[in-house]
Order: sequence, then C-alpha cells, then structure tokens
Amino acid sequence: MTAWHPDAEGRLFDRILYGGDYNPEQWPPEVRQRDRELFPQAGINSVSINIFAWASLQPDAESYDFSDLDAIFDSLEADGYQIVLATSTASMPAWLARLYPEVNRVDYEGRRHRHGGRHNFCPTSPAYRHFAGRLVSRIAARYGSRRGLVCWHVNNEYGGRCYCELCEAAFQNWLAARYGTVERLNEAWNLKFWGHNIRSWEDIVVPNLLGDGMADGRTTFAGLSLDYDRFQNEQLLSLYTMERDLIRAHDPLNPITTNFMGLYKPLDYFRWAEEMDLVSLDNYPGRDTPPWANALLHELTRSLKRGQPYMLMEQTPSQQNWQRWNSLKRPGQMRQMSYQALANGADTVQFFQLRRSRGGCEKFHGAVIAHAGHAETRVFGEVAALGRELARLSTSGLPGTRVLTAVGMLMSWEIYWGLEYTSGPSVDLRYHEQLDHYYHGLHRLGVNVDLVHPDFDLAKYRVLIAPVLYMLSAAQARRLSDWVRAGGTLVTTYMSGIADLNDNVWLGGYPGPLRELAGIWAEEIDALLPGHRNAMRPTAAAAEWLGAERYSCGLLCDRIHAETAEILATYESDFYAGEPCFTVNRYGEGLCFYLASMPEDALLARLYRQILEAANVAIIPDLPDGIEVSLRQRGTERYRFVINTLCEARTLDRSLRPAGAASLLDPGEGGSDTELEPFAVRIYRWEEEE
Ligand SMILES: [Zn+2]
Repeated sequence: MTAWHPDAEGRLFDRILYGGDYNPEQWPPEVRQRDRELFPQAGINSVSINIFAWASLQPDAESYDFSDLDAIFDSLEADGYQIVLATSTASMPAWLARLYPEVNRVDYEGRRHRHGGRHNFCPTSPAYRHFAGRLVSRIAARYGSRRGLVCWHVNNEYGGRCYCELCEAAFQNWLAARYGTVERLNEAWNLKFWGHNIRSWEDIVVPNLLGDGMADGRTTFAGLSLDYDRFQNEQLLSLYTMERDLIRAHDPLNPITTNFMGLYKPLDYFRWAEEMDLVSLDNYPGRDTPPWANALLHELTRSLKRGQPYMLMEQTPSQQNWQRWNSLKRPGQMRQMSYQALANGADTVQFFQLRRSRGGCEKFHGAVIAHAGHAETRVFGEVAALGRELARLSTSGLPGTRVLTAVGMLMSWEIYWGLEYTSGPSVDLRYHEQLDHYYHGLHRLGVNVDLVHPDFDLAKYRVLIAPVLYMLSAAQARRLSDWVRAGGTLVTTYMSGIADLNDNVWLGGYPGPLRELAGIWAEEIDALLPGHRNAMRPTAAAAEWLGAERYSCGLLCDRIHAETAEILATYESDFYAGEPCFTVNRYGEGLCFYLASMPEDALLARLYRQILEAANVAIIPDLPDGIEVSLRQRGTERYRFVINTLCEARTLDRSLRPAGAASLLDPGEGGSDTELEPFAVRIYRWEEEE
C-alpha cells in the first residue's frame, strides 16, 4: 500500500534535506528560541521531531496532551522548515510498562525486562499494539495535512528479539500456517536429530538460551532459529505496516519511512524495503571502519529499494558516544562522509542531533549545537559551510539521479543468519567480513556495486560476485544458472550452495545445486587455524592471465574435483598440495569462477579487472589508496564523484574530469583535478552523448 513515489525527476523532496533529529521537548523556551536563531546560520532546512516523546504526549492510559508538540510544530512550520515527523513509539512510557508488564520483552537469557532502555517492546503484545496504534492515529489525524510536513519517520531503529510466551504462541501459529502439519515441520527442521521431533505445535519452544539457543549465539537447530528470525522480522515489520496504514489513512501525500542501520543483522531489510516508500540510513562507522567498508553500507542501502535515492537520516557531526573510543571526526571529514552518501545515492544529509542533550547516556554524542550553545565552534562552522554547498547542489540537477551499475554482489539476510548459526567449519567465517573482503577489490576499480538479493531480477547485471552463497533454494540456483548460461560472469566461493533455506544440506556433493554451473564438486572443507595460510599456484595455462607465481589464501580450503571446469590454480601445500583451488567453468554463453579458498586481495584485484574488462564494464584502474569514485546519472546527465576518504593528500596520475565537465563544488576556481587535499571532494557534471 504505497501511495507515494519520487517525482518526475526521481527526487524524494524538492531540495536536499539538511538538518536532523531535534529534541526541543528536552529544553525550556529560551533555549528553543536560541535554536531558532542558530539553525538558519547553519543552513539547516529540515528538522526531525517527536522521536522520543510518547511519555510527554500521553500522561496516562486515557489522556493525551499535544500542546507542546503543537507549539513546536507551529514555530518550525512558521520558520519554513521541512518537518520530518516521527511517531514516538520506539520508547514506551513508564506507565505502560507498569500497567501491562507483558509489553516488556523477554530476552535471550529468558529474563522479563522492566521499564528501561528503548526498543524494549514485545512485538506481539496486544497492549503495545493497541496503545501505539491509538497514539499514531491521533498524531496522523492532527498533523497529517500540515503544510510543513514532508516525511514520516515511523518508530526508530527497529530491532532486537523477544522470547516471551506471547511470541511463543504466535510463533506456533505462524509455523502452523507455514508448514500445515507437524510432520512437515519435523522434516523441514530435521528434528529427528537428537530426537527433537514433535507431536503438536505446543511442543515448540522459542530458541533462546533456555531452549535450543547456545551461549555463543549459535543453535542446535538452525532451521528453528532461522524461522524464529523470519517470524520476529515479520512481527516487527507488522508494527511498521500498522503505523504506516494508520498514517496513510490521514495523509495520502507524504512518504513514510523508518531508519535502517546498514548490515544490522536481526532485520531482513530487503523484506522491509518492500513495504516502505523510501529507505533511510543511520550511518555510524567506528573510527577503525575503513571508508571503503562504509561505502558498502551506502551501496546496500541504495540497493534495497532497487536504486531509488535514499535518505541519510542520521550521522554525527563530530563524535559518537557508545563506542569504546569516540574520536572526533577530523576537519573536513564530516563533509567527506556526507558526500560519500550522496555519491552512492543519498538525497538528504541529516544529523543526530541538532542540539547536544544535557543528560542521559547520549550527552557526549556530537551535535550541531554543542553544550557551549553558540555558533562559534569548529563543528558548527563546518556544518554551516556544508549547508551552503548543499543549498547550491539542491538546484544542480543532482537530486533524483541514480547510480546504475552492471555489477552486483549477491547477499541475503537469510544467508547471514544461517551461516552464523552453523556450527563449523570455522568460527572465523563471518558474513559481514566476507562481503567486505569481496567488495573491496571491486570498489578499488571505481565501479559501483549493487547488493542483490538472489530473488531479484538479475538481467541488468553482467558480473555477479557471490561470496559464501551458503543457503540457496533450487529455484534460486536455477535462476542463477540461467543468468550465467545467457552470458553472465559469476564468481562464487567456498561455502556456497551448501544448504537449502531451512539449513538442510543439499546432498550429492557441494556446492549442491550449483555443481553443474561451477563444473566442480567439493569433497571436504578444511578450516585453517588462526595465522595459518596456504597458497594458490597458477597452472601453466593460467600463469599469464593470473600474473603472479603464487597468491596467499586461507580461512577455508575446499578439496575440490574439477568436472567440466578448467583449473586455474592449485594448492601449494598440505596433503592436498597440487589439487585445484581456483577454477572456471564455461556454461552456455557465460563463465562461473569458483574460489575454493579465501584469496588475498591481489588475486581478486587481478581477477576483477580481467572479468570486468571482458564484460565491457568501465573501470578506473590503479586508483590511489583511499580515492573513491562513484557515478550518478539521469538520461544523458552524468555526475562523477571523486572523493579522498583519507586525512592525507593524494595525487591522481590523471584527471578524472571528463573534457568539458563542470566542477560543481568549486565553480569559480576549478580546483586541482589531480591534487586532492585531505578529505577532498570533487563532483564533475557533464552530458553524455546519446
Ligand atoms: Zn514477546
């Protein structure tokens, strides 16, 4: 039920929204007045309000008081701000938790929580649904047709799990609807293992630490835990759609969203994006997160809605508070990170938060307005400077353009869950790290990469990377094989095609339904101890193509047999020395590469460059470390972003500015196109000939 879509130019809003979370309910009138004077100086044009105000809006079960929110809304609207209105349902009032204890979650250890924290509601609780729904209806009726409103922000950062008795009963019903009979369920979860097969739906117990969950987060039955993840994901999503539908009844015009958190494990964001008008990202990399790894999260966020622009809903202007060491963003770094989002498809730049709170655990979280309370700070100055630039970019044609790419990386949250529930072969096999590893080499070549669910239409891609494609249905395997047969180039790896979507192993040799496509079968999977390495030695036939005498590899070593595949490299050591570890299979018009072990970056760099060139994908080889390139487009318009993500100057050996291209960020001087100062950003705009 989506009544909203981007405008004819593809834009989410009529300008780049610039602002963020504002919590005036925490402040007296004189501070709010001061904010009204400061916001325009910072170039802020948008504020997000009412994010954690339920306890203020509803003093008890029967009464509501909107007088303060009315006053806040009125003054922001009068000042001309684009208001993003939240629904306040992410943090329950104390009376609700006291009167209806079942609204509080039961955790993985089986403990019923009391009032405290946030994101603390049981998604199944009828009382939570009742009171949240009533509140949202009233908010939507009251503000849904206001002139200043441009977007709805439902709840906030949905997440977590509940293991209470209400969830357990609802889970039993959900399973009965999914499987029909307990026999089918016993089969799907392979419950005769350890004699866990059941006789009735009531035998099913939620998989926390009191049941089949393990202390390290793994589980006795991945099928059970996977279904519980699917169920909890749907329960939380049903809260979102409840609020969305209540809002829609009063506001047919404005987009509705909630904020995502990158590769946040508990929620299947592909599934969520289907129900949302637009998606938005809260972007909080740690000081030790490489910028390129953060780019992956932006590319993911864009991909969730199939390339539609997204909102950068939250980032800190300076520092966070919940990491162990909360470094300041260096001068220029906030600007650079904002442009990294725009480069990958974001059309807003918003902060958490506009004013730093006095108390509570986020009092040291950065804000546009510091505790000092005035405009004479480094951070405020940087925010104001960026605000001036974004105001110009708002009319440049950039908003609404899209990142279009022929390169994708297959991933799903079900694989994320299934892979990390599995006991063996190695605790070091972490899904996010694997995605990072295989993304990095593509990113270094200046290509954008979509993150692609196996059920997505694959036709627009020419190259797909499929690291640890652990779980796969027969239908997904068939679609992938058909795509290669029609001319696609696929790179897949160890731990692919292992299990079906219930985590039962495909019999007949790994990689199960991909065996014919890959032209190999894997007999055993060796796990290397920390620090241990093997190496890939190119065969004589592949020596020139692979360019080096050996490439280090590790983590896992499949012992594979080439059937129809050509062997490109063999293991250097151990009892399987000389056996194949890297192969390619010609399949119809396409190619399927199989990596039996995790190679060092240098091999991937070589492989990616060759297959992208062969597939006629434009690459920018030999980019200096830390330089990112991204391309947005609409029709014949092109916008190339060149970003120095590092706090040190970089020299490009050639200009990435096409002949005749305008430089959008420094139109007067032009700036150097090859000497990039620390955290420098260039945006080049040109028209491509048809
Ligand atoms: Zn519950």
